[in-house]
Amino acid sequence: MTENYMDVTAPIFNIQSYSIHDGPGIRVTVFIKGCPLRCLWCANPESNLARPQLMTYSAKCTGCGRCTAACGAGAISISEKDGKMAAITDRALCTECFACVPACPHEARELAGEEMTVRQVLEKVERDRLFIETSGGGMTLSGGECLMHPDFSEAMLYAAREAGFHTAVESCSFAPNEVVARVFSQSDLCLLDIKHMDSITHKKLTGVPNELILDNIRYTYHILKKPVIVRVPTIPGYNDSEANITATARFVSEKLGDDVPVHLLPYHRLGESKNESLGKTMDMSIEVPSDEHMQELLEIVKRFGLNGQIGG
Ligand code: SF4
Ligand code: SF4
Repeated sequence: MTENYMDVTAPIFNIQSYSIHDGPGIRVTVFIKGCPLRCLWCANPESNLARPQLMTYSAKCTGCGRCTAACGAGAISISEKDGKMAAITDRALCTECFACVPACPHEARELAGEEMTVRQVLEKVERDRLFIETSGGGMTLSGGECLMHPDFSEAMLYAAREAGFHTAVESCSFAPNEVVARVFSQSDLCLLDIKHMDSITHKKLTGVPNELILDNIRYTYHILKKPVIVRVPTIPGYNDSEANITATARFVSEKLGDDVPVHLLPYHRLGESKNESLGKTMDMSIEVPSDEHMQELLEIVKRFGLNGQIGG
């Protein structure tokens, strides 16, 4: 670790206290911006790009026009939307100067992402030390993708461990093997996604094939000897077939070990409104999976003798 590792930075878009789905106990989850995948159902679209972004909330907008005055690029106009006057942002003209964010008195404009040092993030984790220690919790790096910022992630995990915190990563495992080795070596637990077992379908759904991901998961478990939890974001119509869950469970059972739990994470719709705030659209036809269907898929996992559960 370099001498100045506490000063390494990454764009952080959220630090969430009292997280209970990102590893054991109560945790502080640190969300880093930047991801190499583009999953069609992404729940955190503000994490996709590794730089700050403008988010707008039309429901909060009163149409007062203060943002138009602040915008030197002429990217904002006031016009009727959903039966009321509101600010409309032309993303093609926007230069991402973010002058409109503090100009808005109604918090209808927000800056997603801020460069933070390891030291600054650790200070925020420290505030929850009591809850973390009494619950057997820790700090989890999420995103986005921690592997896109290996210098920060390695340093952040190292610093958290030095401070006595249990550490975990939530990762897509899509990075060169040496990056995985550097970052995951500093983590006490690795929560690793498998989105689809067929590589061609995986590429259609996420933009990248799955061979490197599966190799890295095997490497993490067998070579780095890290505790691994495999997580399957379960998206109706995309990867929730019995055949895909069977293939996933078979991979865990045969290529990893029976001690690797499989968590089936049902799709939720939180990402849809965030896409609108970023001026993007997403496939609105995805339904939330039924409890019965999730139970059927869980039974498949259990038939392989694996410790499965619904949710993280
Ligand atoms: S962030 Fe974009 S919309 Fe806002 S003031 Fe700057 S150029 Fe205008
Ligand atoms: S300043 Fe805020 S509330 Fe006023 S028009 Fe702009 S976005 Fe809407």
